[in-house]
Amino acid sequence: MLTSPDPKKRGVLIRRLLRYREMLPGSLVFTHTRCGKPRCLCAQGEQLHPVCQFIAKVGGKTKTIYIPQDLIPWVQEKFALYKAFQKDVAEIGRINLDILDAKKAQFRERKTHPARRS
Ligand SMILES: [Zn+2]
Repeated sequence: MLTSPDPKKRGVLIRRLLRYREMLPGSLVFTHTRCGKPRCLCAQGEQLHPVCQFIAKVGGKTKTIYIPQDLIPWVQEKFALYKAFQKDVAEIGRINLDILDAKKAQFRERKTHPARRS
């Protein structure tokens, strides 16, 4: 299906990219874990400790980064930037695919009606 390309919107999205400079790419995971102390309740599998981890790919390897309680809101904010960035990049890609479709349609039109060339 051919939709009309929107290069103006693409310009708006590109100018918005600056706001993503502090984004944190990866995923944020809230889970429960044992602390390792043998006398803690968690050792018997009861009352596991809540932890926040940030999972990131660094040089092709998955890295799990423990996030201290006080830093969770900061990490959440930077992670939200990453999600918004991904959404905008996908939108830019869709606009560029629409432009490709429009260019192909123009090309076909010129091939079938060479006299109408402008
Ligand atoms: Zn424990």
